Amino acid sequence: MTRRIVAGVFVLLVLAGATLASAQSPDTILVNGKILTVDTQSSVRGAVAIRDGRITALGTSAEMRKLAGPRSRLIDLGGRTVIPGLIDSHLHAIRAALSFTTEVNWIGVRTLEEALGRVKDAARTMKPGAWLIVAGGWNPQQFKENRRPTQAELVAVAPENPVYIQLGYAWAMLTPLAHRALGLGSEAALPGGGRFERDAAGNLTGAITGPQPAIVGLFDKLPRPTFDEQVQGTKAFFRELNRLGITGVIDPSGNNMTGESYQALFQVWREKALTVRVAYSLGTQGSGKEFDEIKATTALLPMGLGDDMLRFNGIGERITGGMYNNDKPGQTDTEDYYRIALWAAERGLTLTQHWNRDSSVGSLLTILERVNQRVPIAPLRWSIAHLNDASEQTLRRMKALGVGWTVQDAMYFGGEAFRESVGEASAQRTPPVVTAKKIGVAVGAGTDAHRVASYNPFTALQWFLDGKTVGGLALRGPEETPDRAEALRLYTIGSAWFAHDNDVRGSLEVGKLADLAVLSQDYMTAPVDRIGATESLLTMVGGKIVYAAPPFK
Ligand SMILES: [Zn+2]
Repeated sequence: MTRRIVAGVFVLLVLAGATLASAQSPDTILVNGKILTVDTQSSVRGAVAIRDGRITALGTSAEMRKLAGPRSRLIDLGGRTVIPGLIDSHLHAIRAALSFTTEVNWIGVRTLEEALGRVKDAARTMKPGAWLIVAGGWNPQQFKENRRPTQAELVAVAPENPVYIQLGYAWAMLTPLAHRALGLGSEAALPGGGRFERDAAGNLTGAITGPQPAIVGLFDKLPRPTFDEQVQGTKAFFRELNRLGITGVIDPSGNNMTGESYQALFQVWREKALTVRVAYSLGTQGSGKEFDEIKATTALLPMGLGDDMLRFNGIGERITGGMYNNDKPGQTDTEDYYRIALWAAERGLTLTQHWNRDSSVGSLLTILERVNQRVPIAPLRWSIAHLNDASEQTLRRMKALGVGWTVQDAMYFGGEAFRESVGEASAQRTPPVVTAKKIGVAVGAGTDAHRVASYNPFTALQWFLDGKTVGGLALRGPEETPDRAEALRLYTIGSAWFAHDNDVRGSLEVGKLADLAVLSQDYMTAPVDRIGATESLLTMVGGKIVYAAPPFK
């Protein structure tokens, strides 16, 4: 009797042990791959094991197969390349998402004819009389025809719809129906100093030009998608990012963003339906009362509030109107900014600042240095966005402060114009990411999409490697061209730094979040001019499949 009880207890113990072992075996094992880990040695592994959203082991396929339990899902990668999920460190993703399903998209379209065809298709498929809006993300040089659409062409493809086509923040073409719907009968009715464009003969073209506030103000007049459309747009846009291997974005707020603009994102987060990790900063619209605005919006938002999917990441990219696209800030501008920056440092807030030109960035750096005398800012991971022509001296000042640099592929669209303004020698070293690395500045990659650029990270990665504009002009020299491993590093763990997350994601290492993408071609060996065509076939966020295409579908 006693013996039977002992034996029974033994059996129970063995069973309990077995259950424990299967609970500890991986949920998912990816084998037979080429896994670019982006660890410090840029090691390449054959297989990876994942449990509870995190990476539990890496090694050879044989080693990882041994870890499998009865419930482990085994995925054969068929030799394909795996990268850490890409992170865009400066993507206006929250705004782009709101209208993703209600706008017409020209991103990556190679001819004007096809672009017009998309407007025509939208006129057919959307509600009768619906607004057809292309809100940016394209450039005439991407078209074989190398020009913008005319008003007549837009009327021809969508005679019954108001059509609005925005190019960057400098130009927007509206059809007569759109002019009428917005009540733009005279130049005086245009917001922000906008003007009617005239051709060489002095005739109105139908387009509106002017400074950035003119186009921002015009866009504000357009009807907004309904809340349901915004929620659908957010889900669809994030899936689109997943299709391109993106698992994280850092959103720098931006033009036209108000509290309302965040509600669809929050809804998707509450539904636990986010498929991209979002770290977001809050900015201002440059009202003249920026300090009050920032205090009000952040009063109940401690730095870092949120979770692994959605997190508050401080303030930016526009703190004050006086220090935004202003290359000659006066004393009031700098003092106003200093007060807010010091306040942010005291509250432990991260700060990111939009700045374009190196020639004027000293006024910003001087303020950051003053703040740093009072509160060390390095632990707060402040950053400057854009600054394509950063000088070595500027990068050294940034390094001394522990200020990072987010770099975008602005020259992919704007390279020709930029070269004309700064000359060939300067253009060749733009942006100087190799120098930044040598100096030790934290650098993250991204796009600044979707008004002024495409959100496609592989377009940006190809541009990092070949320095060619969309028009085919090779702008950058070899001195400032990173190698493939380094470019990938910028787009993964480099970007993760700006969300204070480089120790939990951005590389494929034991203990880190299992955010990864299985690629359609080998990023390390594909011809450089084909890298832009790469897509993900399988994207995971925290070990969960968020996107799958054949053969993984
Ligand atoms: Zn910016």
